[in-house]
Amino acid sequence: MAGREVDHLLIGGGLAAASCAAELRAQGADGSILVVGREPDAPYDRPPLSKGYLRGEVSRADALVHPEGWWEAQSIELRTRTSVMKLDAVERLATLSDKDEVHFGQALLATGANVRRLRADGADLDGIHYLRAFGNADAIRAEAEQAERVVLIGGSYIGCEVAASLVAGLGCECTVVMQEQVTFERQYGAEVGGFFQGVLEDRGVTFHGGDELERFEGSDGRVRRVVTVGGLELGCDLVVVGAGVVPDVMLARRAGLQLGDSGGVACSSSLQSSVPGIFAAGDVCEYDSPLHGRAIRVEHFDVAAAHGRTAARTMLGQDVVHEVVPYFFSDLADWASMEYVGPGAGEPVIRGSIDDGDFTAFYVDGGRVTAALTVGRPDDLDHARRWIGGGGAPDRDALADEGTDLSCP
Ligand SMILES: Cc1cc2nc3c(=O)[nH]c(=O)nc-3n(C[C@H](O)[C@H](O)[C@H](O)COP(=O)(O)OP(=O)(O)OC[C@H]3O[C@@H](n4cnc5c(N)ncnc54)[C@H](O)[C@@H]3O)c2cc1C
Repeated sequence: MAGREVDHLLIGGGLAAASCAAELRAQGADGSILVVGREPDAPYDRPPLSKGYLRGEVSRADALVHPEGWWEAQSIELRTRTSVMKLDAVERLATLSDKDEVHFGQALLATGANVRRLRADGADLDGIHYLRAFGNADAIRAEAEQAERVVLIGGSYIGCEVAASLVAGLGCECTVVMQEQVTFERQYGAEVGGFFQGVLEDRGVTFHGGDELERFEGSDGRVRRVVTVGGLELGCDLVVVGAGVVPDVMLARRAGLQLGDSGGVACSSSLQSSVPGIFAAGDVCEYDSPLHGRAIRVEHFDVAAAHGRTAARTMLGQDVVHEVVPYFFSDLADWASMEYVGPGAGEPVIRGSIDDGDFTAFYVDGGRVTAALTVGRPDDLDHARRWIGGGGAPDRDALADEGTDLSCP
């Protein structure tokens, strides 16, 4: 048989693959493990890219998932700058970009997500950036050091976090253009989103809601102006676009794996894909969540790590089900932090004071708590986790009443 053989092939050099590799060894797997990642760096945490790393407070080494030397010590082969180009799910054969062929016993698809790119006139001008990798953050920081005016397209996590970092770290003048009326409105509602927008406005960030990009204009090949559908003409030295991500299913689709409604790799509750022996984890994984009673796919740091652990245990034949309530966090410099469990929709019920920046929004749908966001009240998230998992939350008035002891509904 041509090519080499490995027991566990982990495709994608991100957090999910790194977490799966660690859990395989922690659970006693002594077979060969090969991690193949497209990027030049060993797996690293992406959250600092829009936060501490962008501000120059976190180093590359600090952001690594596992420290230098860990991979060798664990006898795990890590091949960076290498892509899996083709996956033959029947023959269990992967073809790598360096033409190597790898026969595998089991494979994990942890190919993550790609940024959603905007199509507009001027989109290829210099000075327009997206943010997903170390190199993007380096480029944004280098240009922001010379820039006065920055326009952010998109009023969600990337737009808001980058605006906060560029104001706090580099003193840039930041303007956000977004389709929503209020930042984070789509995820958390206008009232809660308004809190975060207010935090940024208090530090000088300008928002233009209910508008969107029409085109970029430039001179000498570099972006100089953002023109919006609503008729604004915003002069700028730098643009950062945060318009969401799409799961990277190119390899999975070509390999014939079933995809789910949200475009991820469809998986069982134990993260097994439609093809036996092939699993998925992280941003690319759409799995049947027993806690939610439906398939979900989320792009959260903690979820990628937890998926990696579940997939590893499933690979080793353990009877596991992924029953972790997804958790998300976001920081706007050191001005405000949010923590969220969900995902879920519903009417927000506010406990505490939004004005004072000390509150939890419980999202209630048909009497059930489906999600919660907190600023400064982590205990409330523990209650929400319990209710998302098993129901039994207090009614809306009791949730909002600070006199109610949430630990005994
Ligand atoms: C700027 C930024 C800030 C964030 N902040 C937060 C936050 O505050 N809180 C939070 O919860 N989440 C945050 N996230 C999201 C979080 O980082 C992701 O959910 C997480 O990185 C997903 O991990 P993953 O391993 O699934 O995918 P990824 O981290 O995307 O890794 C996938 C890797 O696979 C590689 N790859 C793809 N195809 C192939 C192939 N065919 N062959 C080889 N390699 C391949 C990709 O190049 C990539 O390196 C942030 C993300 C970004 C970009």
